[in-house]
Amino acid sequence: MEKNLNGSGLSWILLRMNILPIILLTLVITTFSAVQFAGSMNEEVKNGLVSLCDSVITMYDTMYEGDYRAVEQDGAIYMLKGDHQFNDDFAFIDSVKEKTNIDITLFYQDTRVITTIRDKEGKRVVGTRANPSVVQKVLEGDHETFFSSTDIEGDKYFSYYAPLHAEDGSCIGMIFFGRPAAEVDALVHKSVSPIIIFGLITMLLVCFITMRFSRHLVESIRKIEGFLESSSGGNLHAKLNEEVVKRKDELGELGRHVVKMQRALRELVEQDMLTGLHNRRSGEKMLRQVQDSYEKKGIPFCVVIGDIDHFKHVNDTYGHECGDVVLMEVSSLFKRHMHGKGFAVRWGGEEFLLVYEDMHMDAAKSCLQKLLDDIRNTQVAYEDQSGISITMTFGIAEGSTEKLEHIIRDADSKLYEGKNSGRNRIVS
Ligand code: GH3
Ligand code: MG
Ligand code: MG
Repeated sequence: MEKNLNGSGLSWILLRMNILPIILLTLVITTFSAVQFAGSMNEEVKNGLVSLCDSVITMYDTMYEGDYRAVEQDGAIYMLKGDHQFNDDFAFIDSVKEKTNIDITLFYQDTRVITTIRDKEGKRVVGTRANPSVVQKVLEGDHETFFSSTDIEGDKYFSYYAPLHAEDGSCIGMIFFGRPAAEVDALVHKSVSPIIIFGLITMLLVCFITMRFSRHLVESIRKIEGFLESSSGGNLHAKLNEEVVKRKDELGELGRHVVKMQRALRELVEQDMLTGLHNRRSGEKMLRQVQDSYEKKGIPFCVVIGDIDHFKHVNDTYGHECGDVVLMEVSSLFKRHMHGKGFAVRWGGEEFLLVYEDMHMDAAKSCLQKLLDDIRNTQVAYEDQSGISITMTFGIAEGSTEKLEHIIRDADSKLYEGKNSGRNRIVS
């Protein structure tokens, strides 16, 4: 459990929840688009080959009237159309190749008669044969066919073959149009790579934004966790980061609830239930801090112990509940009086500790005199009583570096001096 949130636990869960689907989705979309695009590129190249094939055949028909035929002479076979002999006539196919970058070959049966394709030494591959699958489909099957990869003298070609017919309608040869497969692949890669790069950049961007949001969320949770940790460790004055408290979402709500809980806990631990003043425990702690400031920064302070005179008489005459009302009334007077001057503590029963901060004896005494006058002039209303008057006796001691219990005892002994010398007074 320890440091579960500070470690990678929640961040990792959020990362898995957000980033993995984004990566998967982007990969699927990018791959799908790339495959589709590559398919349509291939289709475009194929259409180019088919339409060039149609044009060349039409041009041959226009230029050379008559049918395709073959003539044997001195053991060699010559391919003709009408009177035009194709053998060694490379000018036309070379000029088409130069303009379109598409290779052309004319076959007599399965043998290349003229071609633009050259071997590694730069020699035209005239006299070589078409591979068996082409022969079977185009020549024997008498059918135009597209091949995504045919092997021509060691090189792969993206190719289109159409059969050529003699006068009697029989298949006399073929015509080939093609581009090296590597060239077509390079073309496809060149067109597809922007899609892949765009997909990856979008993915990285979305991941970055999601991670920023997740981190922000985790940071707020960590701050709440840190706040709870120090509160549960006893620091009921720990502060929750303002940014978290101001959040308008559920985390902000959680933060505000936790702060409220801390306040309620603090009141329970540090406040006196009846009067709402600081209780003795928290009073002692605060007094220690005041003495610290005196020791470190020389800020003066005065300690007062006060006790309600003849309080037992109030209880005995009007009842215990009325006594409580008197205690509450006196306490609210203390709170108002001490505001900006220091703090008041219910020390026990009807006894109170007042601490004047940043004040020397003279100033504190005159403040205390004003408080005593206010108490004397207060008429506590209780049920049908016309107004209960009370008085108090105070002992005051100047703060010093002495032990706090000695300073308090000093104020206490002055209080008793006051009690013994007639009450309703301040003894310094
Ligand atoms: P003195 O002037 O000498 O201080 O006289 P006193 O009667 O005030 O002093 P004493 O110590 O004899 O009586 C204090 C009384 O205060 C006794 C106790 O019952 C009462 N008391 C203490 N705490 C409370 C409280 O919370 N509520 C009420 N109603 N009475 C309380
Ligand atoms: Mg008393
Ligand atoms: Mg008393």
